Amino acid sequence: MAIARHILDTMANSSFIRKMFELGAQLKREHGEQNVCDFTLGNPDLEPPEKFQKALLDVVNERVPLKHGYMANAGYAQTRKSIAEFVSMEQGAATPEKNIIMTCGAGGALNVTLKTILNPGDTIIVNAPYFVEYNFYIRNHGGEMTLVRTRDDFNLDIDAIEKAIDRKTAGVLINSPNNPTGKVYPPETIAELGAMLQRKSEEIGRSIYLISDEPYRKIVYDGLTVPPLFAQYANSIVVTSYSKDLSIPGERLGYIAVHPKAHDATNLVDGMILCNRILGFVNAPALMQRVAAKIQGVSVDVSLYQKRRDMLCGALASMGYDFIPPGGTFYVFPKAPGGNDIEFVKTLQEKLVLVVPGTGFGAPGYFRIVFCVSEETIRRSFAGFEYAIKKMQG
Ligand code: PLP
Repeated sequence: MAIARHILDTMANSSFIRKMFELGAQLKREHGEQNVCDFTLGNPDLEPPEKFQKALLDVVNERVPLKHGYMANAGYAQTRKSIAEFVSMEQGAATPEKNIIMTCGAGGALNVTLKTILNPGDTIIVNAPYFVEYNFYIRNHGGEMTLVRTRDDFNLDIDAIEKAIDRKTAGVLINSPNNPTGKVYPPETIAELGAMLQRKSEEIGRSIYLISDEPYRKIVYDGLTVPPLFAQYANSIVVTSYSKDLSIPGERLGYIAVHPKAHDATNLVDGMILCNRILGFVNAPALMQRVAAKIQGVSVDVSLYQKRRDMLCGALASMGYDFIPPGGTFYVFPKAPGGNDIEFVKTLQEKLVLVVPGTGFGAPGYFRIVFCVSEETIRRSFAGFEYAIKKMQG
């Protein structure tokens, strides 16, 4: 056997999603790209904000020594400083520059974090429905994922998380606003979670890290805000990126912010810096770091996503789909009419509308629609959604 058995297994297990992408590509070849409504990929279609374009041009034209050179593994001091100031405000706790580590996207940030904290056999508690890569990332570093269901409204089930905690628990991973549900956890839930983790850490004699994956923090609607985490639980780590809020996922820029009072904070941060290096990332992309230093707090015009959300949700509701309108992100996660998400997704494909079955997110019986696509694509899909619900409901 030429390649690792666990990679062969992983390829086999993720072949379902891969097949879906292949089918999408095939349908586009057969019917023309413009005739297929592809709602499968969270690849933001809005142009990055003007301020980003301007900062990028400025940075490209700056003459500084070692502009494209290696740097400290944690990133440029100026970038970390400017992010630290922003995070201190956003997270409700003064966070020094040394607690910010620049990474290759949120995906890089998660891998660095997990590699730093996991011992073989440790577990990370994840709340389903969940971003499918979490399981792979945890297993990359010798850990196991323990899945806990969220409540019917997709809010965290604190009692269920508490029951899942034992001596092997290294951390709890949350994601708000959530991919795939769009749920924004309310402040009371975060406060309750923080208090429970504090109590359980003392009870089991192990400091449980709370890892908050927040790449959608700025993509929220109806005046909602994402409650600060650092204000509620000291043993916490925020991982995030500019992929979604600046519409630059291909540029691979993100960061980790470690609460100054996190357990073993100095070793934790030093360990993360080491892991950034030895995972082969070395450091986050130089050019993008220099851009980020200039534009903290900037994001795409979220009202454009809100308009699409309203358009899509309005149409789905009038057709009889059962769903909770998302408070953030650019995803809607309705129940699959008829109950079988795989059957439903196939029925939609008959009308050249592509969505992802909930099974891929640990939530069979649902499906995910992405709305970071044009209004025109959303409008064109309505006939397909109408057809599919009628067919599935007999
Ligand atoms: N976490 C969640 C919940 C995501 O949806 C994504 C990407 O879709 C990521 C992490 C990875 O983000 P990045 O592209 O910044 O690595």
